[in-house]
Amino acid sequence: MANAKTCVFCRIVAGEIPSTIVYEDDEFIAFRDLNPVALTHVLIIPKRHIEALASLDDSDVKTLGKMVLIAPKIAAGDKLSGGYRLITNQGKDAGQLVDHLHWHVIGGNHLGKIG
Ligand code: 5GP
Ligand code: ZN
Repeated sequence: MANAKTCVFCRIVAGEIPSTIVYEDDEFIAFRDLNPVALTHVLIIPKRHIEALASLDDSDVKTLGKMVLIAPKIAAGDKLSGGYRLITNQGKDAGQLVDHLHWHVIGGNHLGKIG
């Protein structure tokens, strides 16, 4: 199980792995995905290691709210006036590869329909 020493996103937070950071505050950073699936593909993550959505409880409501509200800021920065998609992959069936909570902000071109 990943911890702060081995977790790739914790290492990005620590500056040990380079990334293109597009947003930062006390609790969160957002950076461009290494393998973008659209013109804009940014990951929003908490600086502290949280494994996934399923690790959160009622005490995290504020954290989660703040995290989601970073997405419109990313969208404004990348001028995604046509819209964008905000998703998180929870667990292996959804294809979660990195066990550090993250929201994908995806946009900049027409996205295929999901769901
Ligand atoms: P997941 O499948 O866990 O929801 O998404 C993990 C995302 O992290 C993938 O889209 C992958 O391309 C991205 N990623 C993995 N390692 C790195 C990295 O070292 N740097 C950056 N910028 N993105 C990464
Ligand atoms: Zn981590």
